[in-house]
Amino acid sequence: MSETILTVDRVTAFYGQIQALRGVSLEVRKGQIVTLLGSNGAGKSTTLKTISGLVRAQSGDVSLAGDSIKSLPAHDIARLGVVHVPEGRCILRGLSVKENLELGAFTVKDAATRRRRIEEVYALFPILAERRHQDASLLSGGQQQMLAMGRGLMHGPRVMLLDEPSMGLAPKLVTEIMRIIKRLNEAGTTILLVEQNARLALRLAHYAYVIENGEICSQGDAATLREDESIVQAYLGVA
Ligand code: ATP
Repeated sequence: MSETILTVDRVTAFYGQIQALRGVSLEVRKGQIVTLLGSNGAGKSTTLKTISGLVRAQSGDVSLAGDSIKSLPAHDIARLGVVHVPEGRCILRGLSVKENLELGAFTVKDAATRRRRIEEVYALFPILAERRHQDASLLSGGQQQMLAMGRGLMHGPRVMLLDEPSMGLAPKLVTEIMRIIKRLNEAGTTILLVEQNARLALRLAHYAYVIENGEICSQGDAATLREDESIVQAYLGVA
């Protein structure tokens, strides 16, 4: 079995008085797609935010390849290769597609590496190459999702945290984004995927966790969870 690259160990997190995470533990192995499922407000986004340093874990630990990253600032965590592609995409309006991608590479000092990465992103998302000089706000929803993922790839991620990449997209585009996530993974990117569409996520992922009310309540091989009637009823019924 491949080595564990990311470990979340009994993490708790609060927003003021509200406890969002109640001791979340999970592992992501190198080369895998791991998915985190759960209903609205269960704590999925908060889990990703505590990993990338946008929300501080109050207790517990987060480690990357065995080293704790829990107390590092978010930009240092990004530099170490933990790349968060947040829900809502956060495209910078007024900047071109290319400028948005270049901003993604703030952690990469070497200009030749930056140029190589941008070509890799264009190869993966040809539409971004076509539109490289256009204002990013003119892209469609699906193209903006591609840009957000492309910007994440500019870092050369060791682990990519994808928060609801299919959110708000038409079914055809959802299929396209899922196909791209699979290709990215096959090219060697390790992925922690939060997805509202549990059925699709379980088809893509190797391993899955289910979070409920800030706690992991179920986990297993994605193929096994797909067959689990109670999970199917609770999370897949509407997908
Ligand atoms: P969704 O799919 O709706 O985004 P989620 O599983 O990602 O749900 P989180 O966004 O992690 O859930 O939210 C977990 C809990 O923390 C919820 O009760 C939510 O209301 C609360 N919460 C999230 N963000 C904040 C915030 N900025 N301030 C206060 N409470 C928050």
